[in-house]
Amino acid sequence: MTTQSVASRVVIQATPAAPGIARGPWVRFERAAVPLGGRVSPDRVDAEIARLAAAAEAIAGASEALADDVRGRGHAEESEVFAAHAAMARDPELIETATGHVRNELMDGPSAISAAAQAVAELLRGLGDELLRGRATDVLDVGDRIARHLAGLPPVAAALAAPAIIVAEDLPPSVTATLPRELVLGMALEGSSPTAHASILARAFGIPAVVGASGLLATVAQASPTVELLIDGSNGEIVVAPGEADDVRYAEKSSLIQDERERDRVEAELPAETIDGTAITLLANIGSPDEAGAAVTLGARGVGLFRTEFLFLQRTDPPSEDEQVDAYARVAEAFAPNPVTVRLLDVGGDKPIPYLPLPVEDNPFLGVRALRLAETRPDIFLTQLRACYRAATRGRIKVMAPMVADAGDVATLGALADRARAELAAVGRPVGNVDLGVMLEIPSAVLTADTYFKVIRFASIGTNDLLQYTLAVDRGNPALERYRDSLHPAVLRLVRLSVEAAERAGIELSVCGEMAGDPAAALALVGLGVRQLSMSATSLAAVRRAIRGAQQSVLEEAAANAQLDDSAAGARARFTAHLSGAS
Ligand code: PEP
Ligand code: MG
Repeated sequence: MTTQSVASRVVIQATPAAPGIARGPWVRFERAAVPLGGRVSPDRVDAEIARLAAAAEAIAGASEALADDVRGRGHAEESEVFAAHAAMARDPELIETATGHVRNELMDGPSAISAAAQAVAELLRGLGDELLRGRATDVLDVGDRIARHLAGLPPVAAALAAPAIIVAEDLPPSVTATLPRELVLGMALEGSSPTAHASILARAFGIPAVVGASGLLATVAQASPTVELLIDGSNGEIVVAPGEADDVRYAEKSSLIQDERERDRVEAELPAETIDGTAITLLANIGSPDEAGAAVTLGARGVGLFRTEFLFLQRTDPPSEDEQVDAYARVAEAFAPNPVTVRLLDVGGDKPIPYLPLPVEDNPFLGVRALRLAETRPDIFLTQLRACYRAATRGRIKVMAPMVADAGDVATLGALADRARAELAAVGRPVGNVDLGVMLEIPSAVLTADTYFKVIRFASIGTNDLLQYTLAVDRGNPALERYRDSLHPAVLRLVRLSVEAAERAGIELSVCGEMAGDPAAALALVGLGVRQLSMSATSLAAVRRAIRGAQQSVLEEAAANAQLDDSAAGARARFTAHLSGAS
C-alpha cells in the first residue's frame, strides 16, 4: 500500500480549548485496542469475576498514586480528577454491571468492563450538561485501564521522543496528566470539548489546545510524519503542512500574543474610567483559588463572583468546612484589601453532584436548584456559610445567594446566616463581618426588589440566567442562538429597574453574567447606571479599554434609546459604534 503524503496546505476549523499558538511536528496518540469479544466458560465465571474485582482495585490504587503525583507537582485541583477516577474504579454500579455481563452473558472480564463503562458513558453523554458530557471520557478511561490490566497490556502512554503536537481522537485524563510537559507543544483533538478534562488540564498546564477538529485524523493519516502542524488555541484553527505565509503569520501572532499580554499587564494599573470621569470597578469571576493570581495581575479589584460549585464537583464527597475556609481565605488574602464575593452553591437540576442524590425533574432549570435546595439540605449551605464567616477573619468576604425569586428566599438566606453564626458562637469560633446579598437572575426578583433590598447589602445581576428566564430560552440549546444576545431590550429594561431599585435602597449593584465581559454590552451596562462589572480575568483588559474610550453622557443616551429598540441587534449597534480601539 502506498501512502500519499499531504504536501499541500489544509486548514481545519476546530474549537478553541486552551489559548496559545504552537507549530511543529505531530505525534498520533492511539491506544492499542484491547481485544474484546472473548468469552468465559461457565465454570470460570467466579474466577473471572474475582479477577475483575482485583483489576478494578489495582486501577483504583494506581489512580490514587497518580493523584498524589499530580498534587506533588503543584496541581492540587487537577489531582482531584484522579481521586475521582479511583472512586469510579470502585463504583459498585460499574462493577456490578460488569459482573452481570460475565455471569449472565459469559463475557470475559475486559469485554464486560468495557461494555459497562460504555453504558455509563452513554448515560452521561445523554445528559444536557456539557460538564457531565465531558465526564464520559473519564469513565471510558477508567474502564479501558481496568480492561488493559485484565488483558495483561501495559498502561497507555504517549510516546514522545522530541517536542511535538499531540494528535488524537481524544486524550484520556490519565494520559494528559502524565505527558512530559516539556515535549508537548500543543494538543489537537478530533473529538472532545472545551469542558472535558483534556482541555481543563491543557489550560492548567499552559498547553495550547484545539478540540472538535472534524476530519483531522483522516487528514494527518495522509500526511507524512515530517509534515508540520500549526494550531491556534485562541481561534481553533489547525493548519496541516503550513506554508511560508503561515510561518509569517505564526511569528506575527506569537509576538502579538506576547505584546498583548504585556500591554494587558501594564494597563492593569489604569483606572476603568470613562473620558468624562465615571469610575467603574472591575471585578473577577473565578471558579477556584488558583485563578486568583492571574485575576489580580490583570487588574481585578476584587471578586464579584466566586462560583463555589467547582469546589464541589469532581470529587467523591463534599469539601469539609475547614477545606472551604482555606479556599475562601486564600482568595480573600490574594485580593486584600478588596472584597471577595462567595456565591453559595448553585447546583441541582441540570448540575447534579454524584454524592448529592436529587430527584429527576422534568424542567431542571425551573426546578429545585441552588438556594431552593436549602429546604431539604440546609446542611450544605450552613457549612458554606460557617466557612465564609470564619474566612472573613482573614480577609473581606461577601456572600450571595443564587436563584433568589423573592423576599421569602431572602428571608431563607438571612435565617441560614443567623444559624451559621450562632453555631460558630456556640463553639467559640471567631467570626468576621460578612455582607449578605443576592443574585438577580429571575425576573420576579428584579420586579419585587423594593420588598427586600432594604435587608441586604448588595445585589449582582446574573445575566446568563436572567436572559434565559426573561426570554424563555434554554441556556444550552444551540437551536435558539438568535435569542441569545444579552443586549435584548427586555434585559436592558430589567437591568435599569435593578439600578433604580438599588439606588432607592442605597445598596451596591454589580453585573456578573457574561454580559459584563463583552465590551459592547459592558458599555450598555455603564450607560444604564451599573458601576461594578465582574467578568473572567481574560476579559478585563478589553472592557477596561472600552470604558476608557467612551463618554458616560453618550452611553447614557444610547442606553435610554436601546431600551426602546425592537431587537438586540439594534441595541448592540448603538454600543459597538463606541468601541473604537477596544480590542
Ligand atoms: C448568571 O446566571 O449570569 C451567572 C453569573 O451565574 P451562572 O452563569 O453560574 O449560572
Ligand atoms: Mg446563574
